[in-house]
Amino acid sequence: MFKRVLVLGHISGIRIQIHVSWVFILLLLLTAMSTGFHYQFPEWTLPMVVGTAAVTALLFFVSILAHELGHSVVAIRRGVPVESITLFIFGGLAQMGGDTERADDEFWIAIAGPAVSVGLALIFGGLALVTAGWYEPVSVVMGWLAFINLVVAIFNLIPGFPLDGGRVFRALVWKFTGDPRRAVDAAVRGGRMVAYLLFGFGFWNLLVIGNLIGGVWIMLIAWFLLTMAEGQGRMYEMRERLVDVQARDLADPEPPFVSPDASIQEWIDQGVLPGGCRSFLVGEPERVQGLVTLSDSRKVPREQWVTTRIADIMTPADSLSHVGPDTQAEDILRLMSEHNLNQIPVLEESGRAIGWIDRQKLLRTIEIHMEVKR
Ligand SMILES: [Zn+2]
Repeated sequence: MFKRVLVLGHISGIRIQIHVSWVFILLLLLTAMSTGFHYQFPEWTLPMVVGTAAVTALLFFVSILAHELGHSVVAIRRGVPVESITLFIFGGLAQMGGDTERADDEFWIAIAGPAVSVGLALIFGGLALVTAGWYEPVSVVMGWLAFINLVVAIFNLIPGFPLDGGRVFRALVWKFTGDPRRAVDAAVRGGRMVAYLLFGFGFWNLLVIGNLIGGVWIMLIAWFLLTMAEGQGRMYEMRERLVDVQARDLADPEPPFVSPDASIQEWIDQGVLPGGCRSFLVGEPERVQGLVTLSDSRKVPREQWVTTRIADIMTPADSLSHVGPDTQAEDILRLMSEHNLNQIPVLEESGRAIGWIDRQKLLRTIEIHMEVKR
């Protein structure tokens, strides 16, 4: 669900991106705030109302980004790489490049985000007081931001996955029991409970209070939290089960090869059609020159299939992703889904191919590993 994103840029190597759902939230926020300001301050002109709402929304966006950067800075300092920050429908998500190995790291990384939000709430609160007798919209913006940052901090400290509080909770259980597995279970259970309570609250809003939109909205958040909590539980479980599985265990040792000098027609007739395989490595195991798939053949009109060489349509080796024999299953899966790869060659340091990994087969293998209880 984090696929449809818009990349904004990079901050010290971290990719900053927004999920499309954020655009809707921004519009919703703008509409709700404009309406609110209009009723609260009837003497404001329309440009004042809309301008104030826009500045508030923008600074809210920056606040969420600062919260995620808080997690990221602490993570990087503690040796956990951060790949990207995604701002999505209910806030943000910092995508770490690996898992934390110590309870302390987990604790400080998780607490850093809410700490930034509390800090921002104090700063904006102070500014609201200082600017109180000044141009009214400025102090209104500051006051609103102080409030919302405090809400963000408190909401995120609820002790259940996927919220920061869930990670803090996990770190504490991990610290006191010394058992990361039990800690994950506790945080997932916490997350589930939070989601059910929130769902009940939404339902109560819907039926008893008659707050239709608010009720549905809360129930939606609850459902989202529940999905995320279960998803995180599964992710940790997968990591644990796959920790010993490496590329050499997953590779198909006999991937199909085609010569770079073969014509497309020869390849289709003698390789693709008889074998039923859509992708081939180009060259030979000692020297992989590239990868060619059936969709590459569409680059050339059919009449030219006899005269065009495979070398002209393949993805050359230097722009091809590959993994080493001891790359971990989880990293392979992430690489393949990030770059949308169906096959990935497994190369030794000398450049010799010991096989390749097919995405469908990798997913099936992971499923089997998950089913076989150890
Ligand atoms: Zn956070």
